[in-house]
Amino acid sequence: MRLSEIGEFNLIRRLRTLCKSTAKDIVLGIGDDTAAIKIATKKILITSDMLLEGIHFDLSFTTFYQLGYKVLAVNISDIFAMGGNPKYFLLNIGVPKAYDSKDIHKLYSGIMKIAKKFGVVVVGGDTCASRQGLVLSGTLLGHADRIIMRSGAREGDGIFVTGTLGDSSMGLMLLKKMRTKNWKLRTSHFPVPTSQLRLIKRHLMPEPKPLKNTEGITSMIDVSDGLLIDLSHICDESKVGAIIYKERIPVSRELINTAENLGLDPIKFALTGGEDYILLFTAPPEIKTKANRIGEIIKRGRFVVDSRGKKTPFKAEGYEHFKTVNSR
Ligand code: ADP
Ligand code: MG
Repeated sequence: MRLSEIGEFNLIRRLRTLCKSTAKDIVLGIGDDTAAIKIATKKILITSDMLLEGIHFDLSFTTFYQLGYKVLAVNISDIFAMGGNPKYFLLNIGVPKAYDSKDIHKLYSGIMKIAKKFGVVVVGGDTCASRQGLVLSGTLLGHADRIIMRSGAREGDGIFVTGTLGDSSMGLMLLKKMRTKNWKLRTSHFPVPTSQLRLIKRHLMPEPKPLKNTEGITSMIDVSDGLLIDLSHICDESKVGAIIYKERIPVSRELINTAENLGLDPIKFALTGGEDYILLFTAPPEIKTKANRIGEIIKRGRFVVDSRGKKTPFKAEGYEHFKTVNSR
C-alpha cells in the first residue's frame, strides 16, 4: 500500500513490530517519546552516517533490502573502527510519499538482517515525507572497553589492513556502466559473471568485520573514503608520515581480472577507491595478526613505493563531498 494511504503512524506501528527486541538492556524500544536503555559504566561510542539518493545510491541499481543493510553496515563499520561493539540503532527516514510501504518494509528487513548478525537493536528514529528523493540518516550507539583513535600511530609502527581494497569502487563502476542498460540488481537473473557480481555486492552490501583482538593496536580507522585519504587521516591526527608498498596491498582476484579486462590499473582502485569498509590500523610490526602489513609509519612525509622501489609522494586522493572533481 502507498505511504500516502497508510500514513506515518501506521508505518511506525509496523516498524515497531519489525524491530521488536527482547534484549535485557532495552527498557523501551520504538513507541514512546524516547528509547530507554540500561548501560553499564563502559565508554559509549556514538556515530551517525547518512545515505542520500543521488549521492550515495541510485535506486535503479540497488534494492531497498540492500540499502537497509548498507545504512546499518556503514555505521557498524565506524564502531568497529573504534574497537567497539555496536548496540543501539536509530534511523531517520525522509521518504517521498508516492513510495509503497513494502519498500520501507524491505528496507527494514535489510537492516534487521545485519542487526541480528551483530546483536544491534533498532530502538527508534524519525519519519518524514521528503520532496526530494529518499534520505536515510542512521545513528548507532556502541560501547568499548578501550577505544582506539586515529591519533595513536607512532614512528616505526606497521600499517595493516584487514581485507582487500578497491572491490567496492570497481563494483560501483560496473553498476554505472550497466545503468545505461537499465538493469535492476536482482541476483537471481543478473546477467553478469559471478566475479563481477562479487565486486558489485561488496559495493551494495558491505560486510564490516571487527578485529577480534585489539591489544597493541595504536590507531585505527575504517576505509570508507579510500586508502590514501583514510591513511592521511591517521597521519594528520597522529602527526606522523607513512610509507606504503603497492605490492603488499591486498587486491582480490576479481578486481585484478575485471580491471585487466577493462584495461585499468587495479592498484589505482585499491589506493583511491572508497567504501570497502575494512579496517586500517597501526601497531608495532611484531604484533601477531592475520591482517596484511602494507607499510610503515615514518616520522614525516607520505609515500607510495612501487615494485621497482620507486618512491612517489601521495596526496589524500579519493572521495570528498563538496569537491567538484568527484564523479559520484
Ligand atoms: P515524536 O512525535 O515524539 O517524534 P514519533 O511519532 O516520530 O514521535 O515516533 C514514535 C516512535 O517511533 C518513537 O519511538 C520513534 O523513535 C519511533 N520511530 C519513528 N520513526 C521511526 C523510524 N523510521 N524507524 C524507527 N523508529 C521510528
Ligand atoms: Mg518524530
